[in-house]
Amino acid sequence: MPQRRALVIGGSLGGLLAAHLLRSIGWDVVVFERNTDDLESRGSGIGTHADLIEIFRRIGIAFDASLGVHVSTVLCLDRAGNVVLRTPTVRTMSGWARLYRSLREPLPGPVYRLGRGLDRVERDGARVTAIFSDGARESGDLLIGADGIRSTARAQFLPDAQPVYAGYIAWRAMLDERDIPEKLRAEIFEHYVFCDLETEQCLGYPVPGRDNETTAGRRAFTLVWYRPTDASALVDLCTDSAGHHHALSIPPPLIRPNIIADIKATAHALLAPQIAEIFGRAKPFFQPIFDLESPQIVLGPAPPRIALLGDAAFVARPHVGAGVTKAALDAAALADAILAHGDDLDAALARYQHQQLSFGRGLVAYGREEGAYISAQSKPPEQRSGPELPRDIHSLVAAHHASRERVRRLVAERG
Ligand SMILES: Cc1cc2nc3c(=O)[nH]c(=O)nc-3n(C[C@H](O)[C@H](O)[C@H](O)COP(=O)(O)OP(=O)(O)OC[C@H]3O[C@@H](n4cnc5c(N)ncnc54)[C@H](O)[C@@H]3O)c2cc1C
Repeated sequence: MPQRRALVIGGSLGGLLAAHLLRSIGWDVVVFERNTDDLESRGSGIGTHADLIEIFRRIGIAFDASLGVHVSTVLCLDRAGNVVLRTPTVRTMSGWARLYRSLREPLPGPVYRLGRGLDRVERDGARVTAIFSDGARESGDLLIGADGIRSTARAQFLPDAQPVYAGYIAWRAMLDERDIPEKLRAEIFEHYVFCDLETEQCLGYPVPGRDNETTAGRRAFTLVWYRPTDASALVDLCTDSAGHHHALSIPPPLIRPNIIADIKATAHALLAPQIAEIFGRAKPFFQPIFDLESPQIVLGPAPPRIALLGDAAFVARPHVGAGVTKAALDAAALADAILAHGDDLDAALARYQHQQLSFGRGLVAYGREEGAYISAQSKPPEQRSGPELPRDIHSLVAAHHASRERVRRLVAERG
């Protein structure tokens, strides 16, 4: 059989994982990323799962100590900064940039092409052609839409599958370990920290620092603070100083200075002082939280030759902490299905959709349930029930402990 060719749209973690796994089964793969600059400057903490570590190993990347920071205690702080709960946990917190670099470096240069934004997809018999914004065309046997929550590939064939705003945003902040005062560092740095808030959620944990360093003194501490924010307040937050409104998400440098000053003042009023201090010293930015569910993840005129994966297919709220793991499981399921069905790409894609559609739905439902009490702040109190009711710190920590097992169960239940 002649070597088959996959066009991967999107050069983030999902696209890179797909590239490695399809190359490992003998495919010729090219990744097309819209951004013109390398993506490594993107920074956020990424919780890891056993399945993600296993898929990295399969690709040939050892998940050693340099890939993450180990955390062994959950610490819960009340508003005055007192420790109200301390309990053991087992977590390895990695960083987006660290995972990106380890996946990007082993790929030969021509496989990964920056500055190539997909405009649309065309079909010619069993071949699929990507047409880029500069008019260039590339053809292959399969197009993989790993182009994130605003996927161009999905928008062309499933225009009704749109992200739905969850009614809250995540303020994020990261501070280098060396910029954290010594006393504060000794008190909280090594821990997975929750603030005791009933209708919001704020947590923090250590992650690899600049240059992906995981040695003591060179790490960073990252915070995520979920806050109910109605749609009109979100419009204001996403409007820059020149009055330009950025639909749904604003680049961090364009957030108005008064908004940053306000949120830092609110941090001091609401959060434990240790966390407020880190937040106050950092450069916070926010991301609106969305749910996205695609009714199908294998698309296009018959025979379908487009497969969605990662955030292009489903976005579960970040409480699940499994976005990257899901992208990895999607990529592995696609490669496994192709390997199992040999020549028969139709059967392979049907198998992929059968397995990962139910998994994606399950993760989205799980994330919605975990964030229901924050979303419900837009409803009158008498209309809230079940998971929409305010959560105390014990319930939150119980959810933290249960989360790995819940994700594992969803993986095991796949068709
Ligand atoms: C607050 C928050 C916290 C999170 N915490 C975690 C966590 O702890 N653990 C975890 O696993 N996940 C976490 N996630 C989720 C995780 O970041 C995503 O699930 C993951 O990055 C998905 O990767 P992806 O490759 O599918 O999509 P993306 O990372 O969105 O990448 C899509 C890529 O496609 C490119 N692209 C878009 N359109 C085009 C086009 N037309 N042509 C070419 N390229 C295009 C984009 O530039 C981008 O590089 C979190 C998310 C948020 C918002």
